[in-house]
Amino acid sequence: MQLTVSFLFAVCGTVPRVAADYQARRRQQGADEVIQCNVKEIHGMVLPGQVEVPAKYICHDVEEPGYTYRLSGGVGSFFEGEDMASGNVQINVPHSAINSDGNISIDDRTASPITISYDRRRLSSVSTTGKKKVLVVRVSDDDDWSNGERKVEPDELQMYSDVFGDGNNLKNVYKRCSGNRLRFVPATGDRVNRGVITVDPPEIVCNMNMDVVSNYARAQLADLNIDTEHIMFVMPDCLDWDGGMAWGEMNGYSTWIPTSYASTPMAQVHEMGHNLGLGHSGDGKDDYGDKTCYMGNKVPWDDVGAKMCFNAGKLWALGWYVLKISRNLQTRKIWGFREVDWNCRGSDQREIY
Ligand SMILES: [Zn+2]
Repeated sequence: MQLTVSFLFAVCGTVPRVAADYQARRRQQGADEVIQCNVKEIHGMVLPGQVEVPAKYICHDVEEPGYTYRLSGGVGSFFEGEDMASGNVQINVPHSAINSDGNISIDDRTASPITISYDRRRLSSVSTTGKKKVLVVRVSDDDDWSNGERKVEPDELQMYSDVFGDGNNLKNVYKRCSGNRLRFVPATGDRVNRGVITVDPPEIVCNMNMDVVSNYARAQLADLNIDTEHIMFVMPDCLDWDGGMAWGEMNGYSTWIPTSYASTPMAQVHEMGHNLGLGHSGDGKDDYGDKTCYMGNKVPWDDVGAKMCFNAGKLWALGWYVLKISRNLQTRKIWGFREVDWNCRGSDQREIY
């Protein structure tokens, strides 16, 4: 599915604060009106050895897909026992259950009027083949050199190179690991420079929550015409990152990376994996412990990264295994990592007979 930013970010306009935008809209529509939004699970990654952060939930407004609410409170128990999967859940929420900052806090008072519907057909058939466009959104104050905190250090050209250019990066890892079946290419459109666009941050950005700032950035792009299917927000380190080093939306289109890790294939490839529906690759009690897969967290957290791919199960799930397997079946052998890893490395490389 081809999304355009002008559609994604409709209505939001160029407002200084998303909360103010939401409050203005609420006054227009009335507190009794109901909004519909699609619930998405967001995974946050941590460095090796750090305590894991819990997943969080956001909700994309159906009528205004560029507007994203944050779900807080008893979200897990609210959906407990239901057929919950990121992307297949839609909730109907009266404005009276939405906080003044535009977010939805689920508690005893607000939960009762919220209705839920499940439909697995809403799970967008996340394509894992073909050509897909990526827009890198730098939220950076490039004019104010005195305040390094608000800067995203790699400039637009460097970001292009680090995402789409040489070495291990988003484009090249997926191209190599998919056997050229999945190709991420730079988005194109108004003000987009080789797949990268810069948005001035709000005046006060440090300690603002990452969701608020990325919603702000979406609003700044409202009037532009840009074709893209995925959006990678690269934002200053000094935001409130909810304890994660990078975040990715399951079965979705958004990823969020702080400037320190903007150029690392570890963050780029891992978070895009969540967009494609991949969960984490663990080993024992360590949810990130698989040393053979980008869905762990053991790839070096630097610009160089590693010539690694995904483990066998994920390659199968991505649909990139089929040709290799069928070819090997002719020899009555199924070869595991070593045969099809396309340069996976790690101590548990093995053949499966
Ligand atoms: Zn993750």
